Amino acid sequence: MIARDRCTSCNATLAEAGSTRFPCPVCEHEIQRCYRCREQSITYTCRNCGFGGP
Ligand SMILES: [Zn+2]
Ligand SMILES: [Zn+2]
Repeated sequence: MIARDRCTSCNATLAEAGSTRFPCPVCEHEIQRCYRCREQSITYTCRNCGFGGP
């Protein structure tokens, strides 16, 4: 089991249901957000290109 799925915003492990992932709109690097960050609309920053968004 590989524990590499971590929230892009807070770095929490994405073990819980409700987390989401989607490609960066700029470079298509995968963005991953945990349930908490999604609920609170914490902004993310792409680790690959630095793009940030809600
Ligand atoms: Zn998070
Ligand atoms: Zn990107």
